[in-house]
This record gives sequence, C-alpha cells and structure tokens, in this order.
Amino acid sequence: MTRIAVVGAGIVGLATAHALRKTGADVTIYESGTPGGGQSAGDGRIFRHAHDDVRLAGFVSSSRTLWRQWEAEFGVELVSDAGAVAIGDSVEDKLRILSDLPHIRVALLAQGQLASALPILADFEGKAMLDVDGGAIRTLAAFRALTESLTEALVADHVLTVQHTSEGDVEIRTGTGVDRFDHAVLSAGRGTAPLARNAGLEIPVELAAHARVTFPVRQDVDTPLPTFQDGSGTFGETGVYAAPSADNRSYSVGLSETTGVRQDGSLADPPALESLAARAAAYVRHALPGLDPEPSGYVHCWVTRLPWGEDGVGIWSTGKISAIAGHNLFKQAPALGEALAETAVSGVVPALLRPEAQLGKA
Ligand SMILES: Cc1cc2nc3c(=O)[nH]c(=O)nc-3n(C[C@H](O)[C@H](O)[C@H](O)COP(=O)(O)OP(=O)(O)OC[C@H]3O[C@@H](n4cnc5c(N)ncnc54)[C@H](O)[C@@H]3O)c2cc1C
Repeated sequence: MTRIAVVGAGIVGLATAHALRKTGADVTIYESGTPGGGQSAGDGRIFRHAHDDVRLAGFVSSSRTLWRQWEAEFGVELVSDAGAVAIGDSVEDKLRILSDLPHIRVALLAQGQLASALPILADFEGKAMLDVDGGAIRTLAAFRALTESLTEALVADHVLTVQHTSEGDVEIRTGTGVDRFDHAVLSAGRGTAPLARNAGLEIPVELAAHARVTFPVRQDVDTPLPTFQDGSGTFGETGVYAAPSADNRSYSVGLSETTGVRQDGSLADPPALESLAARAAAYVRHALPGLDPEPSGYVHCWVTRLPWGEDGVGIWSTGKISAIAGHNLFKQAPALGEALAETAVSGVVPALLRPEAQLGKA
C-alpha cells in the first residue's frame, strides 16, 4: 500500500487526506497544534464564485460540487443556501467574468431585493449582486466531519524536516520520531514555505497578519444571512468581507487589508492589528445597523499570499515531495485536496495548479 504523509491538518491537509483515502493510500497526517487552529480558524468562511481569474472561478465551481458530495457523505450542511452578496462598482466586472461560466447562477439585486436579502445592511443605492450558489461555509462542521473520519490517521507532532533519502523515498523528522513515506504533501499553511525550502523548493509566499471581528446579530433579524463583500467605499471602507455564524446569531467582519510581517516572523507594526479591528467596528456602526457594534469575538490570523494575486494558488513539486501555497483557499479545499492527492499518487501536478500557470492572477 502506498504510504503518504500530509503535513498540516488545516482544511487543505484534511481535504487531501480525505481524497487520498479514496485512492486506497495509507495516509498519516502530522499536526503540531489543533486541527483547524491555523489559518482555517473560526466559525464561517465565504464561498463565492467571483474571482478576477475566470480559470479560478471555474475551479471554485468544481469545488462547490465536491462540497455537495461531502454534505451527502457526512450528512451535514457544509455551505449555507443563503448565497453570497457583493456590492460596489466591481459587481459589473464580477458579472462579466462569470458570464463566461453560464452554469454559475448570479443575479443583479435591485435596492429592495438587497434589503430583503441582507436586512442588517444600511440603505445602499449602488450596484449589488447575489451569487446564488455561494454562501457561508460551515467551517466547524467541516472540521468535525473530516477529523472524525480521519481520527486514526492524525499524529500530534511537529514536523522539523521533510527530505528525500538516498533510497528514493521521503523521510519525515518530527519532534519525537523519524518515519519514511512514498510521498509527502506539505499543506502546513504558514509552515509550508520553510519546510519546502529544506526540501529544495522555493515558494514565494508573502506573509502578513490579519484581524476579523465578530459581532452579535440584533434580536429582530431572523432571515438566514448571506455572506457579504463591500468594495463600494460608501461606508468608509473599500475592501470588506463578512460571513454569518452557523446559528445566524453573529456575523464576522474583516477588512481585506493586512499588516506586514518581517523575515523573522515578527509583526512590523503590532498595534496595526488592533487598528484593523477598530476599523471593522467603525464600519459596522456605519454600514451594518442590524449588528450590535460591540465585538463578541476575534480571529487573528496569518495570511500567506502569492505575488500574482490576492487569490493566487499553486502546487510546487520536486521528486516525491509536493507543497501548496496561496490565500483564500477554504472554498476550494475539496478541489485542492483532489489535486494534491492526484499529485501524490501520479507524481504530476495538474497543469492548472503549476506555479507557472499563476492560477488566481489578478
Ligand atoms: C480571518 C480569515 C478569513 C478568511 N476568509 C476566507 C473566506 O471567506 N473564504 C476562503 O475561501 N478563504 C478565506 N480565508 C483563507 C482560508 O481560511 C485559508 O486559505 C485556509 O484556511 C488555509 O488552510 P490550510 O489548510 O492551507 O492552512 P492552515 O489552516 O493554516 O493549516 C495548516 C496547519 O499546519 C499546521 N502546521 C504548520 N507547520 C507545521 C509543522 N511544521 N508540523 C506540523 N504541523 C504544522 C498548523 O498548525 C495548521 O493547523 C480566510 C483566512 C482568514 C485568516
């Protein structure tokens, strides 16, 4: 039986292990912390089809199909059916790009339709759209389902090195052991680029830090809430995203802006995280009167971006070691898991995900 190691039990590593299991491989997943505790942390993510790169929109659409298959397999809702709302002038570009993929259902929203789709939003007269098959990813349910089905494959340990041996297989050195595999997949989020470098792969990841703030939904709102992106500037910010919790009682709001990180991993400007959180709260006061502007929770998180775009993603591979990097990967995790499993089994990275393809180019 082929022995494959997956380093990192975030959503991408677990999706990869899940896909590998279906090929009959013997999978071991190394996780130094809690599964789902890294960049995948927190309740809720946005599933949206609109991306600047139409190839990525198509890839995300294939991932939507896989999320539905996971829902059937695990018997639990993993993407809500309330849709994904976007407002601002960029709506026209989003609709134009998605018109090349007619199977993706999108609609322009008139002012009244926007108010009933997103009743927590203040009056807005500009352009608005609904991505009908978008919605809120039920992140916690996804982690519950995947970790339960992969329990015996999970090893709680920190991986220090992943290297080819002179016998042609891959050696993994952890805090407490040494093991050998036929292939290793590095899906360690922030930890991927350093491990990959030791294995001979240079991944041009730019590291940053990010804050997302959660606010209670006011008592009188009982409509299932869609996710939300605001690029309009009407309410004082031009890059805002938001998603509801699974119980619809809270809404998490973040600015797409991040703060820089030095080479050694320290924040260049530590108070900037607080200021990003304060701006999110100020935005809520202006734009989202259906929320109580007193924060009820935070996600402070690392962000790993590739130089060719906010949504850039790629798979690097050398011999029997593969590594993935990119940002905003939650929505495409099921499809990335299949692509990484295919790479591990065949040794060949699917063309769309090779770094030279620059998938997600802005
Ligand atoms: C606040 C926020 C909001 C976001 N919103 C969205 C959104 O709306 N939609 C979307 O699609 N995406 C979104 N993203 C991005 C998305 O969440 C991430 O791209 C995705 O979760 C990355 O998953 P991952 O499995 O690659 O990495 P992680 O979740 O970081 O998993 C990597 C794991 O590897 C482990 N690890 C690291 N190094 C080692 C080591 N040496 N040994 C063992 N284990 C190791 C870590 O502990 C971690 O658990 C958002 C991200 C953040 C932070």
